[in-house]
Amino acid sequence: MERDLKLTEKIRKYCLKIGADVIGFADVKHFNKFQKYNQPENYLKNSKTVVILGLHIFDLVLDAWNINPDNGKNYQFADVILENLGNLTKGFIRELGYESEIISYTPGLFLKDTAALAGIGPIGKNNLLITENFGSQVRLRALVTTAPLKCGNPILESKYCKECDLCVKACPAGAFQNGKYNKDICQPYQLLHLKKLSENTSIWCNDCVESCQIYKQLKITC
Ligand code: SF4
Ligand code: SF4
Repeated sequence: MERDLKLTEKIRKYCLKIGADVIGFADVKHFNKFQKYNQPENYLKNSKTVVILGLHIFDLVLDAWNINPDNGKNYQFADVILENLGNLTKGFIRELGYESEIISYTPGLFLKDTAALAGIGPIGKNNLLITENFGSQVRLRALVTTAPLKCGNPILESKYCKECDLCVKACPAGAFQNGKYNKDICQPYQLLHLKKLSENTSIWCNDCVESCQIYKQLKITC
C-alpha cells in the first residue's frame, strides 16, 4: 500500500500546533498479534493507520483524578485535554477526506504498545512508554484512521534499561518482581496511598514514572 508522506506531515504539524507534545503513526498490520477487540479494524472498517497523541505531564496536577460527588463519575485532567486534542484531530482528518475514530481505553487499543509500534519509544522496565523528550511522563490517546499515513518503525526493546533499575528500586510497593510489573501488587498499594489534593481530587502513586530520568541524559547528549 502506498503511504502518503505529505499527508502525514500535514497531520503531524496540525497536532503539534493544537498542543500535542508527542505524535506518532503505527501501521495497522502490527496489531494482528492482539485480540480482535484490541485491533484497529474493530473500531473502524478499512483503517490503515493508528495516530497516537501524547501530552507531557509537566505538572502532577494534570495527572489528578477528580470524582464528581453528585454522580460518582471520574475525570482525569490530562485525559480531558487529550479528548479535546483527539476531537480536533478527527475534524482535521475529516477535512482532508478521511475517516477516523477516537479510541477509548476499555475496550480499546493498548496505548503504550501503540506508541512503541509507532516508533516513539520502547516500553521500559517500569512497564511504561519511554519518550526521548519526556521520559515516561506522558499520557496517551489514539485515533484509528483510513488515511494511509507514513508510519514509524516499531521499537520492541528498551536500550535504556539494560544498565538501569532506578524505577524498580523506587517502587514503594515492590511491584516489580523478577523484572516484571505486577498489577495486583501495584493497584492495592496505590488505592491505599492516594495523595489527596482536595475532598474530591487525588493523585495516584507516580514514583516509577518520576524515577525514569533517562530523557534528561538524552537531552544532554543530543
Ligand atoms: S528508570 Fe531505568 S530501568 Fe526504569 S524505565 Fe527508566 S531507564 Fe528503564
Ligand atoms: S505506580 Fe507506584 S506502586 Fe505502582 S509500580 Fe509504580 S511505583 Fe510501584
